[in-house]
Amino acid sequence: MSFEENLPGKVYLVGAGPGAPDLLTLRAARLLEAADVLLHDALVHPDTLALARRARLIDVGKRYGKVSTEQRFINRALIEAARTHAIVVRLKGGDPMLFGRAQEEIDALVAAGIECEIVPGITAALAAAATLRVSLTRRGLSRNVAFLTARHGSGEPETEWLKAACAADTVALYMASRQAAEIAARLIDAGRAPDTPAVLVEDASLATERRLRTTLRALREAPAPEFRGPVIMAVGEVFRVADAAALEIAPLAPISSPIRSRAG
Ligand code: SAH
Repeated sequence: MSFEENLPGKVYLVGAGPGAPDLLTLRAARLLEAADVLLHDALVHPDTLALARRARLIDVGKRYGKVSTEQRFINRALIEAARTHAIVVRLKGGDPMLFGRAQEEIDALVAAGIECEIVPGITAALAAAATLRVSLTRRGLSRNVAFLTARHGSGEPETEWLKAACAADTVALYMASRQAAEIAARLIDAGRAPDTPAVLVEDASLATERRLRTTLRALREAPAPEFRGPVIMAVGEVFRVADAAALEIAPLAPISSPIRSRAG
C-alpha cells in the first residue's frame, strides 16, 4: 500500500544472484513480495520475477540501447518510482556492488534525497566456483582472488586490468566471453604461464549451464567459443587440481555436466 505520507518511498538495490531463483537471499525474496514497483535487468529468471506478485514490472534491460542513455533513464525512473510508490525494488544480476553500476544509482538517489538500501546477492564468480567445486582460495595455491573486467571506461588506462590479473593468484573475469582469446594472449604476453588453467562457465547455476576447462595457451589459439548466455572466465592454478581434473579439456565442445557424469 502506498499512502502519501510514506512518500517518497525507499529504493532497494537487490542482488538477484547468478540466475537460479533459489539462490536469492530471503531478504531479497521478501522485498520482491512486498514491492510496489520492480525495475529489473533483462536476464532475470521468470520465477524470480513471479515473486513480485503485487509489483508493476519495468524491464530496464532491453529497451534502451546505449549504456549512458540507459543509466540516466534508470536513475530517473528510480527517482520517479520512489516519489509515487513506497517500496521500489531495483533487481540486478549477481551482486549489485560488482560491475552493476550500483554507485551511479546510489549517488542519483542520494542526490534526490531518496532513501536507499542494498541487499547483496551471489556474484557470478562465486556461483561458478560452487558449480566447479573448486575453492578460489585453495590453501597452498591461492591466497587472493581478483574480480575484474578487461572492459574499460573512456579515459581509463586500457591495460590497468592486466596488472591485477598478473598479480592475483586466482582471477575472475566478468564480461570476457567475446574477448576470451585476446585476454588469454594478453595474460601470456604479460607473464602468466601459457599452461595456466582457465575455465569458462556459461549460465552458472542455471539448467543451461555449460563449462569449459582449458589453458591460456589453448584459449589463445582456439577460435572463440560460441556462447548464448553470460560467461564468467576464471584463471589460476586452483583449477588444475581436485574436481577440476575431471573436467575435459575440450575447447568448443558443449560441456554437459562433466562433473556429475564423470565424478566417482
Ligand atoms: N553484478 C553481476 C555482474 C554483472 S556484469 C554479478 O555480481 O555477477 C555481467 C557479467 O557477469 C557477465 O558478462 C558475466 O561475465 C557475469 N555473469 C552474470 N551472470 C552469470 C552467470 N549466470 N554465469 C556466468 N557468468 C555470469
